[in-house]
Amino acid sequence: MSDTISAIPEIMSNARLAFEKYSRVSAGKRAVFLETIAEEIENKREALVNLANLETNLPLPRLNGEIGRTTGQLKMFANLIKEGSWVEAVIDLPDAERVPAKPDTRKMLVPLGPVIVFGASNFPFAFSTAGGDTASALASGSTVVIKGHPAHAKTSEMVFEAIQIAIKKCEIPENTVQHVPGDSHETGKALVMHPLSTAVAFTGSQAGGKALIEYARQREIPVPVYAEMSSINPVVLLPETLGSNTTSLAKTFAGSVTLGMGQFCTKPGLFFALKGENLNQFILLLLEELKLISKHKMLHEGIAQAYEKLLQHLGTQQEVSFLSDSEKFTEEMKPEAIIAKVKAESFLKNPGLSEEIFGPYALIVECEDLNELKSALKSLKGQLTATIMGTDQDFDLHADIIELQTSLAGRVILNAAPTGVEVCASMVHGGGYPSTSDEKFTSVGSSSIKRWVRPVCFQGFRNNMLPDALKNENPLGIWRIIDNKFTQKTI
Ligand code: NAP
Repeated sequence: MSDTISAIPEIMSNARLAFEKYSRVSAGKRAVFLETIAEEIENKREALVNLANLETNLPLPRLNGEIGRTTGQLKMFANLIKEGSWVEAVIDLPDAERVPAKPDTRKMLVPLGPVIVFGASNFPFAFSTAGGDTASALASGSTVVIKGHPAHAKTSEMVFEAIQIAIKKCEIPENTVQHVPGDSHETGKALVMHPLSTAVAFTGSQAGGKALIEYARQREIPVPVYAEMSSINPVVLLPETLGSNTTSLAKTFAGSVTLGMGQFCTKPGLFFALKGENLNQFILLLLEELKLISKHKMLHEGIAQAYEKLLQHLGTQQEVSFLSDSEKFTEEMKPEAIIAKVKAESFLKNPGLSEEIFGPYALIVECEDLNELKSALKSLKGQLTATIMGTDQDFDLHADIIELQTSLAGRVILNAAPTGVEVCASMVHGGGYPSTSDEKFTSVGSSSIKRWVRPVCFQGFRNNMLPDALKNENPLGIWRIIDNKFTQKTI
């Protein structure tokens, strides 16, 4: 047994003990803690960005932007818990006259316990050690055990140092956040299976996500695994826009398919359009635009190899034609942007063609008519995003296609690329399986806190025994539902 695995029982027991203290820390103090983590990350910005650049091959401007997103997320959760209404306080007042007498019942969300956060390879900051999963769990009052991603192990350690400084500065209970280096699948397995872990956050491969879900199911008491796994983000190019906005469509999607070398969960991987001259022209312009894009290495050797292998396999499918003229798919971990084409009839017979290929690749599905296009959309599984490009007239004529796309995805986009996820209260970064394991939740935006809480109803409690959020005098001044009405009033 490795040293890391043998240490896990103690790590989890520390996480549980810390939870008993941290869950009682006031929301105001937790908010200052999150803001201090953001400050400490900012203090190390240059060193962090340089180290992540060495470990992940991601360019410096992108990494700098990602630090901004990460500190922004921490501050967003700080503001959310300072305001306080997120706990969804609901109060039903008693009625002694009713037969039978109606009791005093009051409900709110409370934190779950120790949460396991798996760092993601493609976001060394925003979806890793102090990323959205950690920030939302800490905001909720849960404690966190981070499983660092092996592809950016040192960056993960350095971010953890920033968190440790914030723990000391803010006098937060020791072990509220712990860090386990990622050295083998066994480490992740032991964390998920440990009886004291209460929920899991994961962003990565479908195989990895499915494995974690299975470990969680094998436990005596199963726990939720919020896994974001694979999405191909279908784009429909409606007829009028395909004819009138061909150049701008080609520019937009050349940029989106290749952004971050296609290593985004929201990369558009499938395009649906009617066959004809307009589609041919779009393809021509797209291929021209792709030639202008400069390349950099992929995140790690495994991802580059997976890209190469999946495209080689695709090349064996007779009905698929590669439109890019490159002979190789990767060279020294740098990927070629690959566009392939297939007729919708063949696409419908081959479910493998709608699997994610992580990297700068997209498949164009050429449809004979709108009925075939709709059948192709209906054949897809759950998605993070679904995009429709069209003119006003297109949208008026094809409301059924917009409806179909809406049925598929957590975020439906009109006339913009799906890459680039706004971090805000209205964001849904989630979708049906296999894009995520539970489409009722989002992993981006303030609602992502809901993954780490459970509702508790307090019945017949004396006012002074209730949590502040449910007390008669509403000391937090939050919005509550009292007898079915939203209000900030006291009782
Ligand atoms: P990954 O192989 O799924 O690994 C992600 C994390 O999960 C790592 O910490 C890994 O740690 C752990 N893990 C993976 N399989 C496990 C298992 N069976 N049991 C326990 N832990 C396990 O993802 P990746 O390295 O980031 O990239 C590989 C592929 O994932 C990509 O080619 C791409 O297809 C996909 N991906 C998708 C997204 C997305 O957002 N949709 C993002 C990133 C990657 P250890 O290796 O230490 O066990």
